[in-house]
Amino acid sequence: MSANNKKLVILGAAESGVGAALLGNQQGWDVFVSDGGTIKPSFRAMLQDNGIAFEEGGHTEGKILTADCVVKSPGIPDKAEIVKKIRNAGIEVCSEIEFGYRYKGDSKIIAITGSNGKSTTTKLTWHILKTAGYDVAMVGNIGRSFALQIFEKPCEWYVIEVSSFQLDDIHQFRPDIAVLLNITPDHLDRYNYVFENYVASKFKITQNQLPSDLLVLNIDDPAINNYLTTHSIHAKTVHITMDENKIHDEGAFVNKDNLHIRYDGDDMQASVHDLTIKGKHNQFNSMAAGISGRAAHIRKEKIRESFESFEGLEHRLEYVATVRGVEFINDSKGTNVNSVWFALESMTKPVILLLGGQDKGNNYHEIEGLVKEKVKAIVCLGVHNEPIHDFFYSFVHTIVDTTSAKDAVHAAYALADKGDVVLLSPACASFDLFKNYEDRGQQFKEAVRSL
Ligand code: ADP
Repeated sequence: MSANNKKLVILGAAESGVGAALLGNQQGWDVFVSDGGTIKPSFRAMLQDNGIAFEEGGHTEGKILTADCVVKSPGIPDKAEIVKKIRNAGIEVCSEIEFGYRYKGDSKIIAITGSNGKSTTTKLTWHILKTAGYDVAMVGNIGRSFALQIFEKPCEWYVIEVSSFQLDDIHQFRPDIAVLLNITPDHLDRYNYVFENYVASKFKITQNQLPSDLLVLNIDDPAINNYLTTHSIHAKTVHITMDENKIHDEGAFVNKDNLHIRYDGDDMQASVHDLTIKGKHNQFNSMAAGISGRAAHIRKEKIRESFESFEGLEHRLEYVATVRGVEFINDSKGTNVNSVWFALESMTKPVILLLGGQDKGNNYHEIEGLVKEKVKAIVCLGVHNEPIHDFFYSFVHTIVDTTSAKDAVHAAYALADKGDVVLLSPACASFDLFKNYEDRGQQFKEAVRSL
């Protein structure tokens, strides 16, 4: 398919932008890449090697506003001046998954979104397809971009982790199987602080689906339920839930520690004790991945086998070590209050909780009950810890402040008794003290290992 030398402008030269640039170039577009900051050397080299024109440190409007299509990186907000100008000029703006979609050929797509659990569910779904011998790639937010994968090595199946920012600029993107895990407040700064806008963005994952496509929905989620009362869905819909009574014909539920997946007249079961990933949230993630696998015609045995061999992801309820009877768990990716709820929910021992970082306007009411029930002490790991002190001081008697992973680990260890668990699940972004959540998790693990 040639684009007849039409002009494609890529805004932002990171993973997704560079992927779209290479794919666009391959498909005959006249590509120009513009990045307001500095481009990473490895990405710059990829553009240069493919003879793609680019600029960094600013945007040349004369070149950008003559584009036929602009692929906007998900990190660039709509309120950016250049984006406003592009939209005012009536130029088509699409996200990288939208652009990739146009060149996917006959391949099939499983797209996974939600506020929490995307990466885990994406990796588990990919693992199921891989175990079954499918030609499958895992792409999107979790690693390599969809467009780059199509450019480098097209596959028969793509499992895509999709963020709401990627969904904001889709037009035709239509997954064969879409998964919506949950919707709780996050990134509201990008949605005019209106939760409904964020919900609508998540539901875009199904906007182009047809009755022959599948939508997997967590029907226990209040925001998802609420949306369904006023909107209709075109895709065939199956539900995942903790409540068997909510499932009639097809869907997935948990009953007495057994995970049931009913699909196409067949009931598959797996014990939750056989899942390698723990906690109620991971039961939802496993149901979503399992039913997607069934819809992709994978045998029950292969799905069970995949559940038992799945390695999980770093920084998500990751067991680190037990030091003199004190267990350490790294959940550095728990960057909002809802994910901390699930982390605490899965704890079976008294908890010393490492909380804090860059606050996103957190409301801690959601975890109040679990904190009262399970948390002995809180160690704050952040620059501004006032919101944590203000909310918890009346019922958590020990709250200490630290500003490094090492100090936090030492403080927690000093507070812990044999049989306790130290859980890093901060409910906040990491950028006040760390490069990113991975850096925070790594430093935490190093501090634990050198205890
Ligand atoms: P995402 O890619 O959406 O950020 P991850 O799979 O990386 O999600 O998990 C991030 C954190 O969210 C985990 O550390 C865990 O605490 C929490 N989490 C995972 N799955 C769920 C879920 N289904 N519901 C709520 N919280 C979850």
